[in-house]
Amino acid sequence: MCGIVGYAGNKDTISVLLHGLEKLEYRGYDSAGIAYLENGEIKVSKCKGRLINLQEKLADRHTENIGTGIGHTRWATHGEPNDINSHPHLSKNNQFCIVHNGIIENYISLRDNLIREGYHFESNTDSEVITHLLHFNYNGEMIETILKTINQLEGSYALAIICKDHDDKVFCVRKESPLIVGSGTGENFIASDIPAILKYTREIFIMEDNEIAIIDKDNITFFNSFGSSISKNEVLVTWDEKASEKGGFEHFMLKEIHEEPESIRKTINPRIKNNHIVLEGITLEKPKKIAIVACGTAYHAGVVGKYLIEKLLRIPVEVDIASEFRYREPIIDEDTLTIIISQSGETIDTLFALRKAREKGSRILSIVNVVGSSIARESDDVLYTWAGPEIAVASTKAYSTQLSAIYLITLMMYEGKDKELLISQLKDIPDQISKVIKDMSAIQKASSLLFGSKSIFFIGRGLDYALSMEGSLKLKEISYIHSEAYAGGELKHGTIALIEEGTPVICSLTQHDLIDKMISNIREVKARGAYVMVITQESHCEQVKEVADMIVMIPEVNPVFSPVIAVVPMQLFAYFCSVEKGNDVDKPRNLAKSVTVE
Ligand code: GLU
Repeated sequence: MCGIVGYAGNKDTISVLLHGLEKLEYRGYDSAGIAYLENGEIKVSKCKGRLINLQEKLADRHTENIGTGIGHTRWATHGEPNDINSHPHLSKNNQFCIVHNGIIENYISLRDNLIREGYHFESNTDSEVITHLLHFNYNGEMIETILKTINQLEGSYALAIICKDHDDKVFCVRKESPLIVGSGTGENFIASDIPAILKYTREIFIMEDNEIAIIDKDNITFFNSFGSSISKNEVLVTWDEKASEKGGFEHFMLKEIHEEPESIRKTINPRIKNNHIVLEGITLEKPKKIAIVACGTAYHAGVVGKYLIEKLLRIPVEVDIASEFRYREPIIDEDTLTIIISQSGETIDTLFALRKAREKGSRILSIVNVVGSSIARESDDVLYTWAGPEIAVASTKAYSTQLSAIYLITLMMYEGKDKELLISQLKDIPDQISKVIKDMSAIQKASSLLFGSKSIFFIGRGLDYALSMEGSLKLKEISYIHSEAYAGGELKHGTIALIEEGTPVICSLTQHDLIDKMISNIREVKARGAYVMVITQESHCEQVKEVADMIVMIPEVNPVFSPVIAVVPMQLFAYFCSVEKGNDVDKPRNLAKSVTVE
């Protein structure tokens, strides 16, 4: 995920581009860069790190004779965040220059072909292949060249392109990554998201997959994927500038929950080829033992991993909190695979746990969201979750993509007869989550009833227990309601003493073979006056009706995959409770996004 902008008009191009990038920095901040035409030549200025570095670099620039331009703020997926890998990328003879948002899945074969044709690559990005391919395919006619090029690309892209031969124009095209065109008076714009151009115009066009747009200062023209000119309807934006940074959502957390299907798709789709899992550069052989180490939400993803791996792979799994793992004497050696999970890749306890595992001879596979982060750099293998920047402190989409990565690892090593079936079911998860998000009314109602509670318990068995731990943490983090998660059978060994008339108990019931046992556990709390909310699937509804005060339905899925779907109503429940209480949802008290202290 990254931000792209393009401008054609009489204003100071560089200022317009920098302003746009400032508004898009939430989409990625590994590097920033711009390219513009000056006296018929393309000039590029880019550098790693936050936008401020680029702004400082350009502080003494001149503004004369500068024409159209494009800009980029990066969330690296391929190639570490350094100056060279920063966008824009120039082609041979500085003829084309592009900025790209997305992932080109077949870039290795395209790159190899281009190298054979005499092209030289500067960066380690997947994106650079696009600029050389444009040069290779160029016949003087831009629409034909762009169409030929995108027909060779597999993956996702939003592209803004400038070409030396068309110095008054900016070209753009997209597939799966967002892109809009803004229409001004004597100026026109391209952007990944509305806030980038809201200062200048509210009249926008939303680009559809494989449509091409050409802007110059006076005109905007659109073409379909056959190269025929088309007309599009203009949309008038009514949001104010501040709200629109959140894409119209009230909070980043709600926006990020809505991004879960897209983030999971990005994490799994490029790694499933012909119903087989291919993890680029990672060869996994079944180890004798697995140790999973993480903190907080990532630790809860690890607990799901334990249940899953032991069930499907029959490999013993220990899952540890990083700060504990560091200071006990874990029994691991060269026969152990250590899986390290961290959104930021900088969590200090997790990083030190990694080093401890390495000292003991273990191979390290990390699941990380930030390319080039310390944990990524120090691991033998890295499986990136492509969740994009997560701004809300309470993690949602990072957790779902961590689970997705665990599914990929498990299914890659799985040898059961139903392997292909499971892989195809994994691909359906994003659509199932979209269904949950589409109808939030039951969960909203539950939150408005329960947000005043002093204490809320979560119970579940098996994978439902692992999931309940995350549901309970989410609630604590942002609603400040005391909450605990218990294994269904464990509550009666002490904690049931806390259940009194009206105490809410949230029960996750998605594991077919454990439903009867869970119903008994629910009866135990009901007998003590608990108010029971059940999250389950249609097929268990009849059984559950008798014991539940409220039922929240999730789509029918293979129980193996239910945690990644059933967590969404729990995230939404925490979110709505927090909103009801008037809390600062995105920046809850006492917390920070990336924990780099012990
Ligand atoms: N895949 C490209 C890169 O790593 C673009 C990433 C993005 O969308 O931010 O440079």
